[in-house]
Order: sequence, then C-alpha cells, then structure tokens
Amino acid sequence: MNPVIKTQNNTVPQEFDALVIGAGFSGMYQLLCLRDKLKMSVKVLEAGAGIGGTWYWNRYPGARCDSESHTYSYYFSKELLQDWEWTERYPQQPEILSYLNYVADKFNLKPDIELNTKVTAARYDEASNRWHVQTDSGQLFICQFLIAGVGCLSSTNTPQIRGLDQFKGKSYHTAQWPHEGVDFKGKHVGVIGTGSTGIQAIPVIAEQSAHLTVFQRTANYSLPARNAPLTTEFKKYLKENSDSIREIMHSTTNGHSFRILDRSVHDVNNQEREAIYEEAWKKGGLQFRASFGDILLDKSANDTAAEFIIKKIRQSVKDPVKAAILSDIDHPFAAKRPPIDNYYFETYNRDNVDLVDLRSEPIETASASGLKTSRTHYDLDILVFATGFDAMTGTFLKMDIQGLNGVTLKDIWHDGPLNYLGLQVPGFPNFFTITGPGSPSVLCNVPVAIEQHVEWITTCIDHMRKEGFKRIEADTNASNEWLIKVNEAAHATLLPTVKHSWYLGANIPGKPRVFMPYAGGLARYRKICDEIAHDQYRGFIFN
Ligand code: NAP
Repeated sequence: MNPVIKTQNNTVPQEFDALVIGAGFSGMYQLLCLRDKLKMSVKVLEAGAGIGGTWYWNRYPGARCDSESHTYSYYFSKELLQDWEWTERYPQQPEILSYLNYVADKFNLKPDIELNTKVTAARYDEASNRWHVQTDSGQLFICQFLIAGVGCLSSTNTPQIRGLDQFKGKSYHTAQWPHEGVDFKGKHVGVIGTGSTGIQAIPVIAEQSAHLTVFQRTANYSLPARNAPLTTEFKKYLKENSDSIREIMHSTTNGHSFRILDRSVHDVNNQEREAIYEEAWKKGGLQFRASFGDILLDKSANDTAAEFIIKKIRQSVKDPVKAAILSDIDHPFAAKRPPIDNYYFETYNRDNVDLVDLRSEPIETASASGLKTSRTHYDLDILVFATGFDAMTGTFLKMDIQGLNGVTLKDIWHDGPLNYLGLQVPGFPNFFTITGPGSPSVLCNVPVAIEQHVEWITTCIDHMRKEGFKRIEADTNASNEWLIKVNEAAHATLLPTVKHSWYLGANIPGKPRVFMPYAGGLARYRKICDEIAHDQYRGFIFN
C-alpha cells in the first residue's frame, strides 16, 4: 500500500488493526479490550516516557485525585479489585501512577505500548479505508481503526505574560512538572492560578518555601477533602461490595459512589439546611454538592450552598483583607469544577503567604526578578503556572488530523467540537474519541466515563466485524442533533453561566465559546448510548 503520509527516513510503515493514541486510563483499557477480547493487533502510541497519561505529567507538589481512591479505579476485573489496595481516601499522584503500572504489568500491556512517540498527523485514505498516522520521530503507522485516548486535560495553558522571557528565575507549569522535583527551600515563589491544581499545590509549596505569593484572578470555592488513611474495615468492605459500588457508580449522574439526593434546598427550613451542609462539610469531599438535587439547577438553591462555603472561608482566614479577596466569588458554587483541599484556606494564615488580587492589580509584565502588577513589583525566584489547560479539544487540534476529502478536524471544529455522542466526528470514518467533547467525561469521576466509552467502542467494533462492516462514520444530521442536546443539557444547569470556565473554552483566547461536555449525567448518557447501539447503531453509517 502506498502511504498517504511519507516517512522521513523511508522506514517501512507498521500496520495494525487498531492504533490507540495515549497510554493513560483510556488507552490502556482500550488496548486490553481490543487485543484480548477481539484478538486484534493493536499498538498504543504514547508521547510520555512512561505510561499514566495525566498522572505521568501532573507531578506537582500536592497532586492527588479528587475522586475517592476506591472509585478512581478500573472496575472491569474482579481479580484486580481484589488484588489492589489503596492507602488513603484520596490517592496521591505517585500511588495512582503505581496503580496504573501495576495494571499494565498484570495485563501485560507494556509490550504493545510505544513510549516517547507523539502522534503529529493522521490522514484517512478512503481508497484503502485505512488511517495513516505519523509520529514526531518520522515513523508511519497504518491502521483500520484510530482511537484517541488523549485525555481531556492534556494540553497546557500558559498565559502570555509580556517579558516572561526576561525572567531569570525558574518557571514551571504544573502539568509539565520536572520528574526530579523542584527544591523550594529558601525560595520566593509565585503561584498563578487558584483552580483545583493551584488549590492542591499552594499549601504544600507554602510549607516548603521561604515565601509564597499567590496571584488570584477569580476567587474560588473549595471543599475540605478530609483525607485520611483507609481503615482495615473499609478496605474489607470495598472487597466485599465491589459489585454494589460499581452498580451505584453506573447509575449516578457523576459516576461517584454517592447519589445526588432527590430533595430541594427549599424542602427544608434554614436550620435543617444548615445542619445538612454542616454534616457534609465535616464529611468532606465532592459529596457536598450532592446534598440537594437543585444546587446546580436553581440559582436561589445554589446561593444557600455558596453562602455556607463563603461563611466557612471567612471563618478560616484570619486576615480580613485576605478573607475578603478569597470570598469575593463571582460564580455559582460547582458551576466551575469544585476543588477539594487539604487546609487550603488555612494556608493564608501563615506568615510566609501573601495573596494578590489580580482583579484590582492585574499583572503587567514579568521582569528579570519577578512579576510587576499595576500596583507593585513582586520579587520571585520561582514562578509556578497552575493555569490549567486548553481543555477537551486542545490536544486533538495540535495533531493534524485529516478525514474524508482532505477536511481537517480544525476545519470541522472551527466553531466548536461537532461530533456524535462524543464518540465519532462526521467525515472521520473509523476514528473514535474516548471521553471526547460531547460526552460526560470531565463532569464525572473520569475512569467510570472511560470504561463506558471503551466498552461501547469495543462492542461496536465487534459488531462491525461480525456483520462484515469495514467502516463506521457518524452521520452529520445525527451529530448536529447531538450538539443541540449537549447544549440543552448544559443550559438546564447553572454550568454555562461562568465567565472564565474552561468547560466553555473561555480560558483560552480565541477559542469558540461552546459548552463542551455533556451535562445530562453519566447514567442518562449510558442509556442513550446503549439504546442507540441496540437500535442498529442509529446515527452511524456502516459500509
Ligand atoms: P483551571 O481550573 O483552569 O484553573 C486555572 C487557574 O489559573 C484559574 O484560577 C484561572 O483563573 C487561573 N488563570 C488562568 N489564566 C490566567 C491568567 N492569564 N492570569 C491569571 N490567572 C489565570 O486549571 P486547573 O486548576 O489545572 O484544573 C483544571 C481541571 O483539572 C480541574 O477543573 C479538574 O477537572 C482537573 N484537576 C483534577 C484534579 C484532581 O482530581 N486531582 C486536580 C487538579 C486538576 P480564572 O478562574 O480567572 O480563569
């Protein structure tokens, strides 16, 4: 076969039934399903020097998962569930990376994963019904199915600060953290960003550095994590009840092991509501937002949760100026992904921590020795960007992906990500996206969303092989209708009301403002996907 893309060094193209991009939670499970269940030849291409995806890259101080460890796991293997034991309520990054390596070794995945290999371009060749995939090292791969497991938060966002190239200190983005770590001892450190990442990193950096200045643009809610070691009894409970835990995670909106309670904020009086919030606060974690069914649906309901948290912030932070900056929050609670923390607000009581409100004194330039705002200059040795990601579409659009008739993904996603069920883009046959935009993904406990997508894709490919189909493509009308459903689901909630939300692409200059994840809930989404498959894959075209 004559390759559509030429290799740089005339190496012979390698052919596989399926090529998977990314060796995180998604890519590893997709490899296992296609290779071991469907007996296909599969190769995973991974840009990193190790497996783990997000958990390979995000090694910043304090990095841990906001989902509880026992739910932030694969549930496809009973044996794995019995074998593995988490140590804490919320696992730290090194423990998650160990878990993923354990899984990769247990299921012998590593021989089929090629590390240090970044996909740069992919072209669909209609005549052969094959994808031709090029890597940064000039290798060429040819495959029938191309499956992207590139993660939703894998393309970093570093703001353009004038003069940053003049800064003589060190600067790091949290998602490109050096593997050898960063020595903060005796240093003056600046952190820009108070999202989930900044809120995890700030307490740890404050302890390790001589002085920390936090640059906050938008004040944020955060819930106490109440992290703790897992008890022997709880570990036993997990092993004995994995089926029922899975059952709950599959039937809930966000794929966690708790349900959003079916009661309104307005069903209870003020005293009862306060007691409910207080109990959830003591318990800690994301479950707080499940205290009532209407927190994310009704602004007046949301206000009660917001006021409760703001009161807690003011109680935690002793300095009234800092407390005012931290509690001046401009958006509804949980309309941005709510962070959870380990003594985040209390960190501002330390003598070595300052807080800069960028809304009243924006950053003007970087200098050789720090950052200059409209008010003053801050001397810094190290600058940490906890400034998030070009989420959901960024990594896809960095690759040059070309479907039918030379149409690129960039062309078709010019006004926002069009696709069907977050699984397939019209005009890009045999190309699947795991947790793509248009699916619940980031609004969920992500491994549960991943397992659902990977299993759906596997069943779909199995169906094609049994029926003798060689090609599957999302129908354009079905995709446009799905886009409307994604939009309707978002607008039934308070989620699209936030100014700087990365869910909307609003954190990236020039990015189309489109609410990207499906907000109708994982359980409902699963049902829709299953019904469509059952209905002869309605909205997909087979050849
Ligand atoms: P993020 O939520 O996008 O937060 C980025 C922060 O940087 C925000 O405070 C933002 O301010 C600020 N920022 C961005 N550009 C800026 C600029 N030009 N000037 C000043 N400030 C700027 O990113 P993240 O904290 O990395 O979290 C992203 C997502 O990753 C989370 O929502 C979560 O889904 C996931 N995550 C998960 C975990 C976990 O489970 N363990 C941990 C970390 C992250 P504005 O708010 O004003 O834009």
